[in-house]
Amino acid sequence: MENEKTIHDFESELICEYFSKLDRQGPGSPEMTLKALSFIDSLARPSAAARPSTTEHTYKIADIGCGTGGQTMLLGQNTAGTITGIDIFQDFIDIFNDNAKNLKLQDRVKGIAGSMDALPFQNGEFDLIWCEGAIYNIGFERGLNEWRNYLKKDGFIAVTEASWFTNERPSEIEDYWMHHYSGITTIANNVAAMQKSGFIPVSVFTLPENCWIDNYFVLQIPLYDFFLKKYGGNKTVEEFVAGNRREEQMYHEYKKYYGYVFYIGKKI
Ligand code: SAH
Repeated sequence: MENEKTIHDFESELICEYFSKLDRQGPGSPEMTLKALSFIDSLARPSAAARPSTTEHTYKIADIGCGTGGQTMLLGQNTAGTITGIDIFQDFIDIFNDNAKNLKLQDRVKGIAGSMDALPFQNGEFDLIWCEGAIYNIGFERGLNEWRNYLKKDGFIAVTEASWFTNERPSEIEDYWMHHYSGITTIANNVAAMQKSGFIPVSVFTLPENCWIDNYFVLQIPLYDFFLKKYGGNKTVEEFVAGNRREEQMYHEYKKYYGYVFYIGKKI
């Protein structure tokens, strides 16, 4: 038992150490974050700037599964109001808060450690809930249903989720996803789930390939050797690197069948 715990702890530390070397811990890009933000009519900077300052400062945004805050800082720079980032890993939150400070956003952008399935939020607290590349941790439908409670009426949700682009796909990629995240489904099913959860689908768009390739996989290539060398011969590290390599290979081979999709909805 004790051994298992030690391996598990080491794995968590490894994931943190590895992914904290990247600006983002999942596929995405500044362009796509800003594109998604442009659909949230009440919040984008030009209209927000036109509001009375009292309204501006009451705007509240939550970024769930924020990681080190790549997208959160961009939201901070392009909206008025306050942002709470929340992530399960304290190490990511420490980097998040350093980043906020370096960008002089610390008065409006704050990171806290916590879990998305026990959020320390009040009902009806937020104007906008953001979540890039993390809702899979509790599942798309469950996330939408539960997080809806924390939104004000007419509040927005903007999440990215890995989705099937086609109704059919080769068994190799189907099996791969069933093993890693069996909750993956088609865009049509996710849009239906959004409506069922009480959101008007405002915009749905697929993330371009560069979000995976240039902004995610390519940045990991130097990390593979760095970690293999640093932890020479460690089985956990070897398997972890092999898993990330495989994810990259699968994407190159099967990218026409799946990808990340931005889902933006307005609470009814
Ligand atoms: N939004 C960031 C990070 C995406 S990676 C980006 O796009 O770059 C997924 C993130 O979800 C990781 O930072 C991971 O630590 C976090 N996470 C995993 N399970 C979680 C949970 N139960 N509650 C909160 N965050 C969680």
